[in-house]
Amino acid sequence: MARNISYGTTNITYKVEYRDRKTLAIEVHPDSSVRVIAPAGATPEQIQAKVEKRAPWIAKQQRHFDSKERSANQPEWISGENMFYLGRQYRLKVEAGSPNVKMAGKYLRVSVPDKKNTSQIEALVNAWYLQHARIKMEERIEKFQYMLNREGLEVNSLIIRKLNKRWGSCTPRRNIVINSDLIKAPVHCIDYVIIHELCHLKYRHHGPVFWNLLNKYCPDWPKLKEKLEKGEWVN
Ligand SMILES: [Zn+2]
Repeated sequence: MARNISYGTTNITYKVEYRDRKTLAIEVHPDSSVRVIAPAGATPEQIQAKVEKRAPWIAKQQRHFDSKERSANQPEWISGENMFYLGRQYRLKVEAGSPNVKMAGKYLRVSVPDKKNTSQIEALVNAWYLQHARIKMEERIEKFQYMLNREGLEVNSLIIRKLNKRWGSCTPRRNIVINSDLIKAPVHCIDYVIIHELCHLKYRHHGPVFWNLLNKYCPDWPKLKEKLEKGEWVN
């Protein structure tokens, strides 16, 4: 069972496990999840009081894991690094030459005049992702045209750009915004995000009717969401 407390501007969600023990223990895991192991007889109020007391420590641990993970996942833009495209893994190969990016076999080959110019490599690769994301997302949206027709919905425009910490959104003007990094994930995960946002054309909230509609067009969504969030393509 998951519970919540607020600490300053942070929201701490924790799961409680009851054990035959006398003291309460709090664990913060590298994925920032919080687990409370409580004595069998502890009341929710007692547990919450303990969690609140330890909140500064919990928040500090979460920040620590967060920064560590982010730097571990951050590419250095050198040959041999893993790059993702449509859920498949490719290796980055940096070569000297005029600026260009292309996918060949298991490689994402980038040529730049100066192989040490990592910011140029990064910019080239991101532009390549953006370009391919645009083509792919348009193709996927077209695939769900039947859904739009059936539900009487219409997309004003599809916008692909790098978003922070979210995969997509749907604006009040019926624009669908998709994170260009989503192109790194498998196609069925891409479809889940697109259908989710298309459902927001009808319902601008996450109420029961929204979930009904999502279930109708993407019954596998919980599995796909989990896969998307656990994938190595997330950084
Ligand atoms: Zn949503």
